[in-house]
Amino acid sequence: MAKIGINIATGSLQKEEMIVGIDLGTTNSLVAIIHPESKQPLALKEHNSSSLVPSIVHFDEAGNVTVGEAAKQFLITEPHNTIFSAKRLMGKSYNDIKDNASFFTYKVIDDNTESLVKVQVGDKFYSPIDLSSFILKELKQRAEHILKTPVTRAVITVPAYFNDAQRQATRDAGKLAGLDVLRIINEPTAASLAYGLGLGKEESKTIAVYDLGGGTFDISILQITNGIFEVLSTNGDTYLGGDDFDRVIVKQWMKQSGLSEAELFENKGLSQTLRLKAEEAKKLLSNAENFELELNGNLLTISRTEFEGLIKPFIERTIKSCESAIADAKIAVSEIESVVMVGGSTRVPAVKNAVSAFFGRPVNDTVNADEVVALGAAVQADILAGNNKEFLLLDITPLSLGIETMGGLMDVLIPRNSKIPTKVGRQYTTHKDGQSGMRISVFQGERDLVQDNRKLAEFNLSGIPAMPAGLPKVEVSFLINADGILVVKAKELRSGIEQSIEVKPQYGLSDEEVERMLLDSITNAKDDIAKRALVEARTEGEQLLETTEKFIGKNASLLSQQELIATAEAMQALQLALTMEDKDLVHRKVEELNEISRPYAERVMDQAVSTAMKGKTI
Ligand code: ADP
Ligand code: MG
Repeated sequence: MAKIGINIATGSLQKEEMIVGIDLGTTNSLVAIIHPESKQPLALKEHNSSSLVPSIVHFDEAGNVTVGEAAKQFLITEPHNTIFSAKRLMGKSYNDIKDNASFFTYKVIDDNTESLVKVQVGDKFYSPIDLSSFILKELKQRAEHILKTPVTRAVITVPAYFNDAQRQATRDAGKLAGLDVLRIINEPTAASLAYGLGLGKEESKTIAVYDLGGGTFDISILQITNGIFEVLSTNGDTYLGGDDFDRVIVKQWMKQSGLSEAELFENKGLSQTLRLKAEEAKKLLSNAENFELELNGNLLTISRTEFEGLIKPFIERTIKSCESAIADAKIAVSEIESVVMVGGSTRVPAVKNAVSAFFGRPVNDTVNADEVVALGAAVQADILAGNNKEFLLLDITPLSLGIETMGGLMDVLIPRNSKIPTKVGRQYTTHKDGQSGMRISVFQGERDLVQDNRKLAEFNLSGIPAMPAGLPKVEVSFLINADGILVVKAKELRSGIEQSIEVKPQYGLSDEEVERMLLDSITNAKDDIAKRALVEARTEGEQLLETTEKFIGKNASLLSQQELIATAEAMQALQLALTMEDKDLVHRKVEELNEISRPYAERVMDQAVSTAMKGKTI
């Protein structure tokens, strides 16, 4: 449903409603678009004001809500009804945040410690989703005011480490604000998109994204291959950022003016002024050498050198995190091909220099560091809008895709919520000697048994040359291209024969159906796990019987009479267990048979049999 808007500035008709990119930050939030004429990403701002909207929500006595710069003025003077850092509470219970409870100057409800937190202001309660929705609503209104057209669709960014609950909470906040959230993308991914990294189809690159914001530090190592962004590792400190820089400046000024903690605590107005002035000083010091201020007859000063000395420990902590992230990604620093700087605090020259020194290369800082995430979100939005056909569409699969394996089990190759395009391969083998064909049945869904999932396609890989069971290597690969088409290919690696099929997984599947399939998988989860366990136990038992029988047939002469009798008995017991609905019994009998055969199997190591005992069979 396209709306038609009129651009008052140019008088032109805008037929296609724009999809905006939103950086919903802990400290600041903003909206960006791809300019329809210049095709360049652009952060939206009103004349003579900043594109940044402080992520602060203020409630007055009457319950009126203000967001942004106007709300920031109340940060210290009205701590109980001025909510900052709501993003830290997204998807969290009180238990999750209790160690940092003193950080929040407003009331975070602590009586229900397991369920999601709420914030109390006066006699009203707000969820972090409500609070974020106020910020998003403000951003939406601003954008509509500037663009003179309705804004209803958005791409919103979240930290790479956000879990499903936090991502869902962000989506819900968008919905509450009247936005259709087309995609949630990772902040470091957005930042790289803003630099054009990963937009080339054939590109393969390992990059680091260093994000130092107001109160949080994140380092992410990303691997970009053919437009797919994979997070190799993340690290950081959720309580380290520019606010700490402001605080050390305030401390220095307190010394200079002889002000005590107690005096500042008493005089909230003065405390507020000092904090805001310290932030101003810090920003100026990114370009100037000295800062001076007269306050109540006191001369307050700070030089860049002093400032750098004060923040050195913080910078060192971020570098330690970078080391850990590199180690977790299992790569060497020298393998990082680009370093992207994100967050207002990376404007501090000492920060830039330390990061550049650590990675041994100049950093990418040409894009405005506090806008870069939103600009990248706009790039993604533009690709989604279909305006940028050259680039790959980064999408996700709503349901898992897999094939049927022995016993009617679902073997997932591409889990739900995987980014597309994507490619996954897995090897299977036969379970009968001389088996010449293999049926590949493709299913979609979250249930453990394929009978409960949706069958997408089926084909036969025929012409497998005669080989003992377990010897053929059939590689089944799933490839979802940028248009969402799934190509399933099966190839017997020893002979090279192959077969493939194309399907449209989403075809004829409505959002409601996807939702129902997900719900089904949750309500049946326990039952499914039990069924799967039984099927797996039985398959294992059957396979063991088959391989043991074959082994005995071939090697009976090498075994003692005693071994043969014990094996026959154990096989019989296992056979019986297979007819009962008791996976534990099957496991026990499998174990018993294994105990008996292990000593002689080791003695008569047979390559083919040991392979058969390992591989999965279809
Ligand atoms: P977040 O991602 O947490 O929302 P931002 O990326 O907007 O945060 O960064 C906000 C922080 O950047 C604040 O602490 C702010 O003071 C700091 N900052 C902004 N500009 C500068 C500058 N020129 N020099 C130093 N710090 C700056
Ligand atoms: Mg940020």
